[in-house]
Amino acid sequence: MPADHIEWNHAHLLALAWTPAYTAAVIAAGWSGTAILAVHLFATLGWFAAFERWRPHRPRWQATPADWRRDASFLGMNAVADGLAGVALAAATLQFTGSGPASMLPLWASAPLAVLVAEFGAYWLHRALHRGGWGWRVHMVHHRPEALNVTNNLTTHPVNVVLLKAVKLLPLALLGFSADAVLLAAVFMQLQSFATHANTRGRMGWLNHVMGTAELHRWHHSARVGEALNFSTSVPLWDQVFGTFRHVPGAEPAEVGVEGPGGYPAATATWALATYPFTRRCCSA
Ligand SMILES: [Zn+2]
Repeated sequence: MPADHIEWNHAHLLALAWTPAYTAAVIAAGWSGTAILAVHLFATLGWFAAFERWRPHRPRWQATPADWRRDASFLGMNAVADGLAGVALAAATLQFTGSGPASMLPLWASAPLAVLVAEFGAYWLHRALHRGGWGWRVHMVHHRPEALNVTNNLTTHPVNVVLLKAVKLLPLALLGFSADAVLLAAVFMQLQSFATHANTRGRMGWLNHVMGTAELHRWHHSARVGEALNFSTSVPLWDQVFGTFRHVPGAEPAEVGVEGPGGYPAATATWALATYPFTRRCCSA
């Protein structure tokens, strides 16, 4: 095998191909944005879960039944939180949607721009949550699992989900991005959030410099704080601009999770994780 051979991450590459085809087909069929995102969420989950079983990157990162119970619980909590936040944000920004400077751009330009604008807010929120204090108590929940797989992406605290939605959607609404541009950006970012957590084998080569990948995001989940960079998920642009980009071809963190895990709730203790930001507790058995 030549030294420069790359075993590509086919799960991610193929998802990048079928997602636009799916999106175009269901928009043409008249589906609502909510339905498009909901079906895409479960299709993407199933897609990467199947590849994880077939060709895992690290076999010991396979999800256990206890992991699934935790991830499914957070999915349920976050569906409620995301829905309520969506209603509140839509009501607060209705007057701006489609009426600002971004509304004058064609969709082929406004949709990618919407990704960059949304990712800008997400990037700075994410950096702030890693600074410690109460923000870290909220965000720690997402870093607590000691594995990385597609369902881990669901284990995020509902407060984190609401904050993230706000910093993504408010700038888009104020700049006047159309509902279509926001939907296309949301589908792409949803795909990327699962792809970057997936335990699927293979690499993304030069694409690591233009889009979020599992290779980049594994560094973010490193148990060593100094390695836990790459705060962007969908595209690495803001990491590259602000000096937090970390790409080491062929290398990856020794362990993922949090530094000093004994000081936090157990990785599968769903209730302890969900209540952790609201308690004084430092740790649990
Ligand atoms: Zn993080």
